[in-house]
Amino acid sequence: MGDAKKPRDQPDDKTEKEEVGEEVLDEKLDTDMNYRHKYLWRRVLIHVLLHISWFIGIYTAIFHAKVATNLWMLFLGFWIAEGVSLGAHRGFCHKSFKMSAPLKIFLLILQTMSGQNSIFSWVRDHKLHHKYSDTDADPHNATRGFFFSHIGWLLVLRHPLVLEKQRQVDMSDVTSDKLFMFQYRYFLQIYFVLGVLFPVSVPMYFWNETLWSSFFVAYFVPYVTNLHIIWTINSFAHLWGSKTYDKRIKPKQSLFAWIVTAGEGGHNYHHTFPWDCRLSEYGRMGGLSSTLLEFFNYVGLAYDLKTASPSVIYGHMKRHGDATGQKRCIEAERRREREDLMEKWLTTLDC
Ligand SMILES: [Zn+2]
Ligand SMILES: [Zn+2]
Repeated sequence: MGDAKKPRDQPDDKTEKEEVGEEVLDEKLDTDMNYRHKYLWRRVLIHVLLHISWFIGIYTAIFHAKVATNLWMLFLGFWIAEGVSLGAHRGFCHKSFKMSAPLKIFLLILQTMSGQNSIFSWVRDHKLHHKYSDTDADPHNATRGFFFSHIGWLLVLRHPLVLEKQRQVDMSDVTSDKLFMFQYRYFLQIYFVLGVLFPVSVPMYFWNETLWSSFFVAYFVPYVTNLHIIWTINSFAHLWGSKTYDKRIKPKQSLFAWIVTAGEGGHNYHHTFPWDCRLSEYGRMGGLSSTLLEFFNYVGLAYDLKTASPSVIYGHMKRHGDATGQKRCIEAERRREREDLMEKWLTTLDC
């Protein structure tokens, strides 16, 4: 271990973190910038092949595939992204809302189709990410830079601290769930059927698409595109943007990530209030997944949606937000003063 350690950018105030429901960290970890990860060349080769296949898929989509196959690709892309965003992330990991059994099964199927590991592995990694953000115990530690946090972390042997902490993290919520553990045990088999066979068979069966077009367009394009969309949050949203809600942590409010993910770029907000199901303070205006969640709530498939109240959000922002946050607090205060004045004036008129 070398000396070049970057200090962890994390809040210390236990009471306040308890107040907003965030996990309280008992230990301080860093990033050892002298540590060199060992590349796993088989993984590198797989990712190179995946990306070549993505390019072939895009070319095939433009020049060879039927319109229906392209629409199927977009349809699949959207839903498997929701399997990760609403299912694995907001639902299964953060438990920011409760869901009925049909919705749980639906999201679990979509998450399996995304090919982003089992719920067990996804949730374990994400718990580590929140608990030890941007330190050596974070699987995609953004302190190591863009490449590592975006894709590099999947090409190397995990840091010893990640391996140590992943053995210790409490996974009882997942291990006690029979469905999750069934998916964990038979992940490869289920993934092959739902994530590969199903998307490829539909265009061939229903509109006589070729095997080549079905395979490259309906499988590789949505799969690899979604990987990059999710990775954008780990990289861009941890590196560039404002710290509107809490300047003591590394995650940012990233407009780029917001656009790419259709609403998941409010990452400073998410790391400040990880239990808020909206991932921003804007509700349905905040993004596609939030709108979909509101719909599921409306039809009774999702319930007990957790959200942070404006007073909690603004209180935290006033105490810890950066210049962007302070500006918003001042504007909110002025707005309140104007509303108070207007109310007083209207009361006087009534008299
Ligand atoms: Zn993050
Ligand atoms: Zn999260």
